[in-house]
Amino acid sequence: MGSLDEIPSPKRLKVSSVESERLSNDSFLLALSSPSGDPMASHLPSQEKEDIIGPKGIIRRTELVRTIASALYSLGYEKTGRTLEEESKLYLRSSMANLFRKQVLDGNWNESVATLHELDLVDENILKDASFQIFEHKFFELLEKNRTVDALNTLRTEITPLTINKKRVHELSGCLVFSSQHALQEAQHPGIGTANSRLKLLRKLQKLLPPTFMIPEGRLECLVEQALILQRDGCKFHNPLDNTLSLYTDHQCRKDQIPSQTIQILQAHHGEVWFLQFSNHGKYLASSSSDKSAVIWEVHEDGHLSRKHTLSGHENAVAMVAWSPDDQQLLSCGAEEVVRRWDVTSGKCLHVYEKSGIGLSSCGWFPDGDKVFSGAMDKSMYVWDLDGKELGYQQGQGTTNTSDMAVTKDGKRIISMFEEAVVLLHDTETKIDKLITEEQTITSFSLSRDDKFCY
Ligand SMILES: [Zn+2]
Repeated sequence: MGSLDEIPSPKRLKVSSVESERLSNDSFLLALSSPSGDPMASHLPSQEKEDIIGPKGIIRRTELVRTIASALYSLGYEKTGRTLEEESKLYLRSSMANLFRKQVLDGNWNESVATLHELDLVDENILKDASFQIFEHKFFELLEKNRTVDALNTLRTEITPLTINKKRVHELSGCLVFSSQHALQEAQHPGIGTANSRLKLLRKLQKLLPPTFMIPEGRLECLVEQALILQRDGCKFHNPLDNTLSLYTDHQCRKDQIPSQTIQILQAHHGEVWFLQFSNHGKYLASSSSDKSAVIWEVHEDGHLSRKHTLSGHENAVAMVAWSPDDQQLLSCGAEEVVRRWDVTSGKCLHVYEKSGIGLSSCGWFPDGDKVFSGAMDKSMYVWDLDGKELGYQQGQGTTNTSDMAVTKDGKRIISMFEEAVVLLHDTETKIDKLITEEQTITSFSLSRDDKFCY
């Protein structure tokens, strides 16, 4: 945020914000640089031409400079921000906006609302919304100071007459009744007593009021991010992570950045390879095969892999493998058979999970690494602790086997394939199931890293 607490320069005060709001951008520039002898006048041979910049001619200089100044302040470069304002004669905020900001930060609530009324806001609802937020803040600050009668007064004579948000008005009146006032205030309006709370209010107001009056916080960052996202989304061969995007050049991935050349053929299995998974930290790869084994591969610095362990013991083909969250252990599931847990360092089998008479078909870890789960041929899901104690199960109702499964990071949801075209979301706390139906048969799915999407 800018430092508005400074006294506006006399020049700044020459143009009221009401005037400036009514003026076009060109005349706004003129009005601000009009005093005789102003160096700006000689710098700008044609105000109209100068005010539009950029190769496509779609950026207004005034807007760009003010947005940059806003970014400078929000980055903490107050001195530079002020210098830019002085040099360009394009002030971030009008004198009216400065006044309004100061009034809010100083807690001169009624004066700040009066300033809003002077703005000639086209939309009456915006004025009401903004006034409501200001008076609500005033109400809580009064409560904070134990000035209950004054707070009641504000509620009755300032908030209620706005005739909006009746539900909130009701909640506010509740705050007056409860004896454990502070706890309730905190719940209703957290951080009211902190130094930043008025600044937070100002940011909320900023979103309501016209951007020409107060430039929205972080506007430049927002624009730059939009540009990066647009470039990324338009990148045909996009492969790297977002943190590799740079502001210095336009982003574009070359075709050869998509892995397209075989650098090594891994040969350890004697049958079809059914499943592959890299470990979480990427130092290992596990493969499973119809030859009834799984193999742990070590990934070396140069990108080449070597066999670390062959895991033998399954009686059927190994359908899938799953790395523990810390990559110290691996689960392997024999097709319609049992799940085995292996120690990655030694390659030894640590435990066998099985259901008598029911073959298991998939396996996975809970995010905390102290529970494992498996889908079974009877269409149920089973959960065990590491030592094999059964902690619960979900009776299956689907028509196909539970093959692909995932657990969200908070451990609250198990996601699995339920029917050919249906994904089942099982809430482990409420035990409530939700179904997502696809139009076509699902052959496989995977959960996004942020747990928001499954593919
Ligand atoms: Zn790319």
